[in-house]
Amino acid sequence: MKHVLMELPYEQSALEPYISAETVSYHYGKHHAGYVNKLNSLIEGTEYADKPLDYIIKYANNSIFNNAAQVYNHDFYWKGLSKTATSPSVKLLGLVERDFGSIKAFEETFLTAAAGFFGSGWIWLIITGEGKLEIKMTSNADTPLRHGDTPLLTCDVWEHAYYIDYRNGRPDYLANWRKLINWNFISDNLAKVENDPIAGYNQSCNEINQVCDYVDYMQKNETTPS
Ligand code: MN
Repeated sequence: MKHVLMELPYEQSALEPYISAETVSYHYGKHHAGYVNKLNSLIEGTEYADKPLDYIIKYANNSIFNNAAQVYNHDFYWKGLSKTATSPSVKLLGLVERDFGSIKAFEETFLTAAAGFFGSGWIWLIITGEGKLEIKMTSNADTPLRHGDTPLLTCDVWEHAYYIDYRNGRPDYLANWRKLINWNFISDNLAKVENDPIAGYNQSCNEINQVCDYVDYMQKNETTPS
């Protein structure tokens, strides 16, 4: 199947003044588009030619993995940004307060990790198989999907994400990126995990009692809980 560059959910100037239209035009229009085009040409005639993106990310290696993962990571990055005000769901707020103390403490921990991360890569908020929020860092194209974690938010700390606007000033980029965090997107991702705990938590029944209990419950009732 031919992979397609996602439509941005906003105009290229929508993130100004924090991320300029020029940055978006290069980052989305050149880098992100480049990964999509490269992926399409690399998979031609291979076992991955007809496979969906998540399958390729799970099983492919080297250039095919790198380009597929970068397509996924960038899709996730753009969706995680919003210039308009957003807010965490009650459920998300509860988890953030439980696992980080507060929204402010979460943001500061996330940004400190992002500022200190060496080289090119991605900073993630993920939810583990046990339902705990954690911050993870992945180098280059690597992505939590490959490791069985469920991502909720990501920040791109490759230099191409900020060099036009901030030159080498990654902390300045991060301070403004923080103002664009799309809490609705994170809340929606969390809700998807909650509505599909077996697939979402990526755990088999014999490893996690919580999932076994849920399977038992579903089999007894054979209904979708409201
Ligand atoms: Mn990027």
